[in-house]
Amino acid sequence: MSFAQLGLTEELLKAIADQGYITPTPVQLKAIPLILDGQDVLAGAQTGTGKTASFTLPLLQRLAENHDPHQKPHRVRALILVPTRELAAQVYESVKTYGAHLPLHAEAVVGGASIGIQTRQLRRGCDIVVATPGRLIDHVQQRNINLSNVEILVLDEADRMLDMGFLPDIKQVMALLPKKRQSLLFSATVPNAIKSLAAQLLNNPIEVEVAKQNATAENVSELVYGIDREYKRELLSYLIGSNNWKQVLVFVRTKHGADRLEKQLIEDGIRTAALHGDKTQGARNKALEQFKTGKVQVLVATDIAARGLDIEDLPHVVNFDVPQIPEDYIHRIGRTGRAGADGVALSLVCPEEAYHLVEIEKLLKRQIPRIADTGYEPVSLKIADAPKKNAAHKDTGKKDLRHSKKPASRGAKPADSKRTDSKRVEARGKGRSGSRGKA
Ligand code: AMP
Repeated sequence: MSFAQLGLTEELLKAIADQGYITPTPVQLKAIPLILDGQDVLAGAQTGTGKTASFTLPLLQRLAENHDPHQKPHRVRALILVPTRELAAQVYESVKTYGAHLPLHAEAVVGGASIGIQTRQLRRGCDIVVATPGRLIDHVQQRNINLSNVEILVLDEADRMLDMGFLPDIKQVMALLPKKRQSLLFSATVPNAIKSLAAQLLNNPIEVEVAKQNATAENVSELVYGIDREYKRELLSYLIGSNNWKQVLVFVRTKHGADRLEKQLIEDGIRTAALHGDKTQGARNKALEQFKTGKVQVLVATDIAARGLDIEDLPHVVNFDVPQIPEDYIHRIGRTGRAGADGVALSLVCPEEAYHLVEIEKLLKRQIPRIADTGYEPVSLKIADAPKKNAAHKDTGKKDLRHSKKPASRGAKPADSKRTDSKRVEARGKGRSGSRGKA
């Protein structure tokens, strides 16, 4: 089925063609006709499924149908709430892209950007506001925005909004909205907390489920490297260098860890930037831009900062730290293999993290393939056996190298790597004797 058959207008079809989209994705096929029809929708759709267009396109069409060129001061007709500034920037871009041939006016209302400019725009009134909850509430309190005319409400990545503690803010916003409105809730996962939010927010919603829950994209090759923590950074540098990876998103657990790894990779001669919540908005935008344009090869990010980032055709995702919340694994892997492109997702798992890997595999209901004989793996411990407390001490018949310095492994080649690049590994190794010594 084509976009035209979904009932979208010429202006939107033109914008879609400008993007080079040919066929609607499954979530677009299901959600667009329902939203055009005025239904409330609860959609279980992950990033990468084309979900943003699935609510933005029909939202634009409905607003354009009875557009009044005279903006009403302080009023807004459609409110899109998202959890992070980065996602707000992306959704706002999508609104502008798909609405390029329509006379609608959109604003992004996020923390970290000038409140004065936002205030002036909001006071004039606008058709669409894409907002993070905190900054929106600031504007409500300062009476810059009046939500009593909202016709369409969208909650995007609702599960993450709840994870981030935005429920009270969402409730505060809901209380200011008119009862008669169309509401759309998009969420990567639909746990009970989301169902209960949906029950309060939506009116007879139609449920749309696309990518199977708890599944990762089929075109993503996932691999696990068992490795001691102290060798992770060396293996990562090696993999990036020897495979000549150009664009790698690396996930770490903490902001501090992101900064540290950024510094270490730079020392290894790899162009790297970090993205996390302690960076200013300007620094975050810069890091993202550098990554998108190829100025840096590696973006080291924490989960929250990376949530919802839309980086097209991202070929490599590395879990430098294994996510402690199993669902985050699916979100992270969602950065690659989007809209049909192939992706590779590697997880570097040390014995201390084996438990989290088991939890992830329980959620996925399958085992992620292991890379064998990398020269780095902690041979005393099979990752799959890890949660049993004494597994590490079982007599496996193999020599226990966990506590040795493993000199033989320096620069060891992963079994699947095709290139021999020992010079490069050696050169990198020289600069790092200090950190290695400490390990
Ligand atoms: P999203 O799930 O909204 O983050 O979208 C993921 C990516 O898919 C974005 O880069 C979109 O530009 C792209 N996309 C959305 N719809 C389509 C489509 N129908 N055909 C091809 N790419 C699409």
